[in-house]
Amino acid sequence: MDFDTIAAISTPMGEGAIAIVRLSGDEAIAIANKVFQSPNHKTLMEQPTHTIHYGHLIEPTTDEVVEEVMLSLMKAPKTFTREDVVEINCHGGLTSVNRVLQLVLKNGARLAEPGEFTKRAFLNGRIDLSQAEAVMDLIRAKTDRAMNVALNQMDGKLSRLIQNLRQALLETLAQVEVNIDYPEYDDVEEMTIPVLLEKCGWVKDEIEKLLQTSSQGKILREGLSTVIIGRPNVGKSSLLNSLVQENKAIVTDIAGTTRDIIEEYVNVRGVPLRLVDTAGIRETEDIVERIGVERSRQVLKEADLILFVLNGAEPLTNEDRLLFETIQNMNYIVVINKTDLPQQLNKQTVEELALGQRIVATSLLEEQGVIDLEEAIASLFFEGQVEAGDMTYVSNARHIALLHQAKATIEDALFAANSGVPVDMIQIDVTRTWEILGEIIGDTVEESLINQLFSQFCLGK
Ligand code: GDP
Ligand code: ZN
Repeated sequence: MDFDTIAAISTPMGEGAIAIVRLSGDEAIAIANKVFQSPNHKTLMEQPTHTIHYGHLIEPTTDEVVEEVMLSLMKAPKTFTREDVVEINCHGGLTSVNRVLQLVLKNGARLAEPGEFTKRAFLNGRIDLSQAEAVMDLIRAKTDRAMNVALNQMDGKLSRLIQNLRQALLETLAQVEVNIDYPEYDDVEEMTIPVLLEKCGWVKDEIEKLLQTSSQGKILREGLSTVIIGRPNVGKSSLLNSLVQENKAIVTDIAGTTRDIIEEYVNVRGVPLRLVDTAGIRETEDIVERIGVERSRQVLKEADLILFVLNGAEPLTNEDRLLFETIQNMNYIVVINKTDLPQQLNKQTVEELALGQRIVATSLLEEQGVIDLEEAIASLFFEGQVEAGDMTYVSNARHIALLHQAKATIEDALFAANSGVPVDMIQIDVTRTWEILGEIIGDTVEESLINQLFSQFCLGK
């Protein structure tokens, strides 16, 4: 395909030590050559692919030196976009990287639209749509595990699975077609229906398996929404602080995230926790007090995980019991805090009230037990699970919606096959399922959808 040459800053904005301006397209190397001067006056076009060159960027009209740079040269097709790519590594400051960008724009490149590099990789057949989306997830990934999910997807694991399903559907359609084309065999229906039932049944099972991973995938992507509750003075703020301090806070800035709820992200053993409404908790110490019982029930109901803090140095109060009642049937971990003081809390009562949920003991004052709590959180999430890296998680909202659609149409096909509907009617559902699955990997998507998807990417990717 024939595209103009695009350029963008492809490292995060800010004061990094190094920033990269990336060029992609037929003219990428020629444009770079126009503004690049190496000590021994190399011509970039004559250099081998995948090489790095030291030199200066100069303003060609005035010969003024703009920047000292390292320039990576990568010729098509073995590049991310499958086009010629030049990456200019320059100093990280905002002004210097902007000057480099302006320079290449002035000399023939066009400013890339958001996601345009990835879009080209897709359009040039380098990656399929689910892989392109994985690039976007990778940019936003909050923990190593989330990163692994995205990497697997980028690696094409999800794509291969979807392709297998589509292949099975295609084979089924072909087989049905053969049977329809040879009506001289009078047992056509008898032969066709079992084949349909078997293959479509398998496809449905696989789709269901994928959908089952979606809640975990979503959590890896968006964070486990976590609320800390407990009576005043039991140590909620202390717990929040120790979680935030020990686990590097992670990026929270996702375009389009609503900002009415204040959230803090921490990474606990690869599980991203989204500590909800923490500012509120910090301010008034007590979420129930601050937002009222009804609203706090709502916040609790939406939580994936509740950390319920008790004071081990005091006997259980009615308020504690009430909180136990409020959170029954929810996912929670009981944190018995202040173990450094003489203990007054009846552990057995707590165990009975906690109904098999996890209980950990901490002294947040002496920084004891936080590791146990972290382990409890991680095992709660990954219990009985293989390492995230080994699994194909579905975490993307678009994929999940399409999988639900595919499941519905394949169920229609199965239902029809079971109720004696003519085979060519069933074929329609099978074909539709094949199409819907194709949308996940971008085989049957409309251009407008593609544009919309890629416009969500960060600029420069
Ligand atoms: P919150 O009202 O539930 O948020 O409780 P805070 O975290 O503000 O803690 C209330 C008081 O208990 C503070 O004076 C803390 O220093 C103290 N505290 C917190 N954790 C512990 C602990 O493990 N042991 C002891 N002895 N004091 C603690
Ligand atoms: Zn507090």
